[in-house]
Amino acid sequence: MLFCGHVQYLVLPLYLYYKHLYISCYLPLFSVIVLIRVKPSDFDYLKVIGKGSFGKVLLARHRKQGGYYAVKILDKQMIIKRKGQRHVMVERNVLLKGLNHPFLVGLHFSFQTPKTLYFVLDFVNGGELFYHLQREGSFPEPRAAFYAAEIAAALGYLHSLSIVYRDLKPENILLDGQGHVMLTDFGLCKEGVAVGGITHTFCGTPEYLAPEVLLGQPYSLAVDWWGLGAVLFEMLSGLPPFYSRSRLEMLENILYSPLRLPSGLSEGAIALLKGLLERNISRRLGQRLDVEELKEHCFFASINWDDLVARKVRPPFIPKVTGPDDVCYIAPEFWLQPVPASLNERVEAAAASVTFPEFSYMNPAENVVAEAVL
Ligand code: ATP
Ligand code: MG
Repeated sequence: MLFCGHVQYLVLPLYLYYKHLYISCYLPLFSVIVLIRVKPSDFDYLKVIGKGSFGKVLLARHRKQGGYYAVKILDKQMIIKRKGQRHVMVERNVLLKGLNHPFLVGLHFSFQTPKTLYFVLDFVNGGELFYHLQREGSFPEPRAAFYAAEIAAALGYLHSLSIVYRDLKPENILLDGQGHVMLTDFGLCKEGVAVGGITHTFCGTPEYLAPEVLLGQPYSLAVDWWGLGAVLFEMLSGLPPFYSRSRLEMLENILYSPLRLPSGLSEGAIALLKGLLERNISRRLGQRLDVEELKEHCFFASINWDDLVARKVRPPFIPKVTGPDDVCYIAPEFWLQPVPASLNERVEAAAASVTFPEFSYMNPAENVVAEAVL
């Protein structure tokens, strides 16, 4: 496939002001319109680092500025075939909502070519939580509590913006180079759900789905607290709750079987898992006061939540990465795959199709001025 680099123009107003004037507020004296082009050929694509439902995720380096990014590359045809169009726009809209949280992956740019959509994200290189969990079997309680608390803080933040994450599973929970949690993959987030509100759309990975989602019933932000319960259960025992090799049996277990907890857990862990993996939504932990209820729970007694969100709590495991481009915690099955040669071709293309209007975006915090056209 010939690389098609459609040029996107993004309008960035620059406000200039004189700092040295003794005025009480910064007065924008005049603004200049700058056209900035962000395009696929601005990046060198170095390694494949992940695979999603509609395409690949690659480690890339900005050619002029030098920073490393994870670029999620989605095939438009595949999205349309699998009717994922809405899914992708939701991802973009959610990432765009100006989300800013220490445990959520940030979006720098999004742009498109006739065949492809691109999300340029922070590259998070401590590996998937799942990768570490698989290698170690399970985590001791303090380590699991640290990750669960950082995840809960991120979910609480999304919920405060009426966003349900919905797709909580170990593959979507990454660790950054310092060992802090980073949630990625907002493809399944559902916007516009208020605390106590409900939504009907079904989506997600069976192992971690709340019973109300499986039953096609209306659901609320509380699905994420079930999801956190499922992930915490897996961190402590090595397997998801209600696990069976048979998918059908597992679905039945999630709906009807009693919760069987691994032996050797503390009372706090038992109480928290029972509270989160509660089928009756009105009795589920988090349903009433959202993350505030979790903060009070004895399982998290050792967590100082202010320090936690300030990233001041020392992570229990610090990845040994040698630099921002180190992929040692990413499964070789990904980075052993060749980078599609077409990606590094420097051929610019004709106009993008209108299949995904309004997709392109630049984070206002970006100061990519290399391509500025005044
Ligand atoms: P699915 O819907 O099947 O979960 P997806 O299409 O939504 O997949 P993602 O989950 O966003 O794709 O990404 C696929 C994988 O790529 C992730 O599981 C993760 O391993 C890796 N990945 C995604 N984003 C990043 C990132 N910012 N930094 C490092 N790796 C990432
Ligand atoms: Mg994913």
